[in-house]
Amino acid sequence: MSERPAKTIEGVTGAWEIVIGLEVHAQVSSKSKLFSGASTTFGGEPNAQVSLVDAAMPGMLPVINEFCVEQAVRTGLGLAAQINLHSVFDRKNYFYPDLPAGYQISQYKQPIVGEGTVLVDLPKGETIAVGIERLHLEQDAGKSLHDQHPSYSYVDLNRSGIALMEIVSKPDMRSAEEAAAYLKKLRALLRYLGTCDGNMEEGSMRADVNVSVRRPGGPLGTRCEIKNVNSMRFVAQAIEYEARRQVDIIEGGGAIHQETRLFDAKKGETRSMRSKEEAHDYRYFPDPDLLPLELDPQWIETIRESLPELPDAKKARFIEAYGLSPYDAGVLAGEIETAAYFEAVAEGRDAKLAANWVMGELFGVLNREGLDIEASPVKPERLGALIDLIADETISGRIAKDVFAIMCETGEEPAAIVEAKGLRQVTDTGAITAAIEAVIAANPGQVEALKKKPKLIGWFVGQVMAKTGGKANPQAVNALLKERLGPLDEG
Ligand code: ADP
Ligand code: MG
Repeated sequence: MSERPAKTIEGVTGAWEIVIGLEVHAQVSSKSKLFSGASTTFGGEPNAQVSLVDAAMPGMLPVINEFCVEQAVRTGLGLAAQINLHSVFDRKNYFYPDLPAGYQISQYKQPIVGEGTVLVDLPKGETIAVGIERLHLEQDAGKSLHDQHPSYSYVDLNRSGIALMEIVSKPDMRSAEEAAAYLKKLRALLRYLGTCDGNMEEGSMRADVNVSVRRPGGPLGTRCEIKNVNSMRFVAQAIEYEARRQVDIIEGGGAIHQETRLFDAKKGETRSMRSKEEAHDYRYFPDPDLLPLELDPQWIETIRESLPELPDAKKARFIEAYGLSPYDAGVLAGEIETAAYFEAVAEGRDAKLAANWVMGELFGVLNREGLDIEASPVKPERLGALIDLIADETISGRIAKDVFAIMCETGEEPAAIVEAKGLRQVTDTGAITAAIEAVIAANPGQVEALKKKPKLIGWFVGQVMAKTGGKANPQAVNALLKERLGPLDEG
């Protein structure tokens, strides 16, 4: 990655740079588990989706789910990454009550996907490249339930054996903002690809956040890893807190010890969980039940050809084909559903007007109501029809906002609302002239003032618009007013 100006935070002894690398666990969208046929549906009755393999019964044999492998390859291609034709599943040994086998099947030295890159747009318009170290496939563990009984913990194995993609970034991020933007982009990519639903609340995407601090441009510092952070906001908070904690320790003469920490969302702080285990603690060895994965290059090409248009390409096309600004194009291409909605509205219409309506009024109502765009009360065809009414001057942009509000409430057709409420724009000069005369007659003082202050024309436009209930065509009002009161000194 090319060097860029250091982003720093201040300590008492000078500036520090934060270095961040993320390990994202993304649950593969698949009907069945990585090595068994049990269902992956979220929210089922505890232990109702557990095969003999997932429960680690003696003598069980894992069988690889080809679709999960395909999803990992698809994701690797989306990350512009190296696809490894030969990869190996290992056993990672550790004891935990929600891991009945006593080991997790994972890929260690030979992952299915190698190095790649993700381009990340930052809020201020800068774009950074974040390196991907690897992506490997592994099994998820079950879940311990500590809140079901006063003195016992229960174990639910429904999640046991579900396929995860662990996507490991290089330590290429330099602020909480960059880490959050990277996560957002990664989530969008996975959702475009259809390989993970990106639902952080349900735990389908979770991040281990590695943080260290160093003097700008200096050697890397010792990192701490904050486990299982499950929202973008918490990731940002955990980084801010952790970086400050490390700076304070170092400036106080102490040293950072590599360890695993937890983020306490209620207190907004991280705390020590355990000292960092090393790879050799896990006694990794190739799983004797599973042959190495050998992929056919032809199969990979078939998957490559089936990839959808991805966010970067879509953004570029929105700029090119619709003349949108890079910012607007980035926002509209940011989520696959938003992009589809926008294109349905823009098709055959003024694309910039369509973009303004989607990002303005529509996003406004979705934010207010806390709705996803798929649940929008106004479907794209209807918003398009509303824009058509502005384009053919049936209504003004101002009135269109009122019509839109009614559409959100009632779900009615815009044309029907315009007719029923009599909102059709007045372009008839007679009616507008009458309103102008009435305003002039009622405001002789303002007419006098206008001679010295031509900007007051705006006030007259407002009065005439109000008189017509906002229905007059504003351009017509402007022209007729100037004709009647002019010539004005436009200084
Ligand atoms: P482990 O399994 O021990 O956590 P991984 O290689 O899976 O090791 O992940 C290491 C993660 O830590 C990567 O995301 C990497 O970018 C990040 N990382 C490595 N060194 C540093 C550092 N000095 N500061 C911050 N992050 C780091
Ligand atoms: Mg790790």
